[in-house]
Amino acid sequence: LVDMSEAPSVFSRIVSGEIPTTLLAETDRVIAFADIAPQAPVHLLVVPKTAEYRDVVELAAGDPSLLAEMVEVASSLAKEHTGGEFRLVFNTGESAGQTVFHVHAHVLGGSLQEGTLG
Ligand code: 5GP
Repeated sequence: LVDMSEAPSVFSRIVSGEIPTTLLAETDRVIAFADIAPQAPVHLLVVPKTAEYRDVVELAAGDPSLLAEMVEVASSLAKEHTGGEFRLVFNTGESAGQTVFHVHAHVLGGSLQEGTLG
């Protein structure tokens, strides 16, 4: 679980509205917006509003229905933005490229370049 004494993650600051962002989707528990540094023609992020879970392993163990909701939001975004087909990436751990320890899914679509992992 996240140590709440840490400074709020960039995604908590987006959830709270402190960092202005154009939301592409919002449910009671999830928001979605474009990645600031896109690595594919379509590169969106799906983020739970809660900062409770650092990564997808903690989320799957702690709140599987929230994980399912993220997948549903990713799927509906993909219908809108990529024709319905997409790659869903959860970087898990620093050596795997995770930089923000507030669980999030990368939704990648459009003709992906070989080797691009988002
Ligand atoms: P990670 O590397 O943790 O899997 O993914 C973090 C992602 O968040 C990166 O792809 C990065 O470009 C994106 N990101 C970091 N800061 C911001 C921000 O302030 N706004 C947006 N829209 N995306 C951000």
